[in-house]
Formats: sequence, structure tokens, C-alpha cells
Amino acid sequence: MKILIFPGDDIGPEIAVANDAALMVINDKFSLNLKFEHCDIGFTAYEKEGSTFSAGTLERARASDGVILGPTGTYKYPAKDKGGVSPSATLRKELDLYANIRPSRTRDGIPAIIKTMDLVIMRENTEGFYADRNMFLGSGEFMPTEDVALSVRKITRKGSVRIARQAFELASQRRKRVSVVHKENVLKITEGLFMSCVRDVAKAYPDIEVEDLIVDAAAAHLIRRPADFDVILTTNMYGDILSDEAAELSGGLGLGGSINVGDDYGIAQAAHGSAPDIAGKGTANPAALMISSAMLLNWLGRKHKRDDLCAAAAHFEKAVDATLSDPVNHTPDLGGGQSTTQFGDAVVAAINL
Ligand code: NAD
Repeated sequence: MKILIFPGDDIGPEIAVANDAALMVINDKFSLNLKFEHCDIGFTAYEKEGSTFSAGTLERARASDGVILGPTGTYKYPAKDKGGVSPSATLRKELDLYANIRPSRTRDGIPAIIKTMDLVIMRENTEGFYADRNMFLGSGEFMPTEDVALSVRKITRKGSVRIARQAFELASQRRKRVSVVHKENVLKITEGLFMSCVRDVAKAYPDIEVEDLIVDAAAAHLIRRPADFDVILTTNMYGDILSDEAAELSGGLGLGGSINVGDDYGIAQAAHGSAPDIAGKGTANPAALMISSAMLLNWLGRKHKRDDLCAAAAHFEKAVDATLSDPVNHTPDLGGGQSTTQFGDAVVAAINL
């Protein structure tokens, strides 16, 4: 099996090195026979080829069994017609990665704002408010005059039904509770369509408890009663925002693992961005990318019915947990003084135990 790794921008290459080392050891220990390839994206690719996502990159992703995508500094990218193409947006759209799955939980040894949380955010990943990628052709964001800017939001029955199914299936394997987050009180047509699809899908899962929350209140409930949440089902932008909140509540963005999946492809991608404020210091926390990579191994294992991949994923995640449980290993975002490399070495040692 071939795994394609895009290190990305800013802290991306730093955390990728630590993640690569851990993956090599996992690969050997479980005899997974994974082949790893690297490919430049972002500013590294731009300097070489004039595009942050050069020709042929998408085909390389398509030809791989799984992809690990590092964070990209898209905010600083040049305009699209000058070579600034968002790798994340392109991959999600072109590979139809409609589910972005973002777990957050409190862990032993991790200082957190709240006491207990163990939830997964199931975020629709291909439509919603993301006007730069929600059209078949062109952009959903445009200016009819120089003083008017408009942005189109897209909600479809197909997109809503398939993400709802993913959420209910996941909840069936967990604590059997889905919290649907929306803004149907204001956006009656778009959110109305999303909610009616969710209510239809819910009928097939009578043993799953469903609550619905308006997004602004959901942001408060997440802080007030974090332990109550199991699976949160929501549209694209709300899921993006709430997942950063959940990651931060449970310890920090450096722990925000995430995977983008569709029916055919899976891409591991930490929830956090490229953290330019700490880039080059060697202190970024690689845990989120490691947790994301473990999720990818698990997804591959289930897809290809390979128990060894699922066992490797569980072992990898356990090693990250064990490393995080001892504050001596913590990077500065968690209040510690360890470097990215030192944290990575500790994970490798835990894998080998
Ligand atoms: P960010 O997530 O990069 O950083 C927010 C804060 O969290 C910063 O203080 C940063 O230092 C910290 N942080 C993030 N990841 C960390 C880690 N692994 N270890 C330690 N600390 C970490 O968000 P931002 O600053 O708003 O965005 C920076 C760039 O990333 C922008 O160009 C944005 O467009 C891009 N971005 C990319 C992705 C992605 O590739 N998935 C996601 C979000 C933002």
C-alpha cells in the first residue's frame, strides 16, 4: 500500500518529520508493508514550480491508498491565477471527501479547561459556506459591483443525507447519541433542508438519541456540559469552528486529530493550521498529525479488511496517549519544554515498548 505525504507549510515539515519516524517504526513492528512517498505542496512547490498545488499532484493523491496532508498556510497564498491553489480545498472537492471526522477527548496528564469530554465532530466537508469550493465551475464568492461582495452557501439533499448517515453509523458504535447543530431558526431554507434530511436518516436509527441545538447555543453547551456530547453532526463551517473549540477545551489545537473521508479516499489532516507564529522554532506539537495518521491507518484497515492495520492504528494512538500522559514529554503548547523531536522520540519509544 502506498501512503503519500504532503509535509505542507510553516510547522508542517517539522511535525511531518516526527510523524514519519513514528510511522516507520509502526510499519516495521506490524509488518504492514506500507510504502511512503513525499510530495511538495504549498510554498515549497510554489518556489519550484510556480504553484502551491502543481500539475500532477492530484493524480499522485488519486494513485495512493492513503494521504497524509500537513497544514498549509493558505492565508498567505497568492491569488489562484498567480499559483495560489489551496491543496486542502482541491483535495476535498476533487476526491469527494465529504466527511471530516474530528475527535476530541480529555486525556490523562493533559491540562484541560474542562473535566471530561469524549466526542467526535462529524462535519460536512464539501459544501456549506465554503464558497471557494462549493461550485461545479467558478467560485461562489463574487462582487457584482465594487461595493458589494456576495457569497453563496450550498446545501444539498445528497450532501446532507450522506453526512447524517456517517454520523448515525458512528454513534451506533459509540454512546448512541447524536447532537445535530444548525441554525434553522434563521436560515430556514438551507438549514431546513439539512435538518429534514437528518430527521429522515434518524428514523432508521431508533436506538440513537437525537438532540438538536442552534449553533450559537451549541458553542455554550460545549463549554457548560462537554461530557454530554458523543457525536456532533453539523455543516461545514460550524463544524470547523466547533472542532477548534472542542480541541482547545480538551487540551489544545496540538491534539486535534482529524481525517477527511469519502467513499473511495481518505486523507489524514490535523485540525490545526500551519501555526506561522511558532514555525522554525522546533516546538510544534506533532500529536495531532500522529492521531490523524492513526485514524488513517484505522480507516484503511476497515476499508481493506486488514486487522493488522487496525491493530497498528490502535497501538499508535495508545503510544501517543502514553507519551502525553507524562508531562515531562509536553511541548510548550501544553505547558512543557520539550521540542517536536523530543516528543516524537518519546512516541517512538512508547511504540517500541
Ligand atoms: P493555527 O491553527 O495555525 O494556529 C492557531 C494557534 O494554535 C497558534 O497560536 C498556533 O501556534 C497554535 N497551534 C496550532 N497548531 C499547533 C501545534 N501543532 N502545536 C502547537 N501549537 C499549535 O491557525 P491560524 O493561525 O489561524 O492559521 C495559520 C495558517 O494556517 C493560515 O494560513 C490558515 O489559512 C491556515 N490553516 C490551515 C489549516 C489546514 O491546513 N488544515 C487549518 C486552519 C488554518
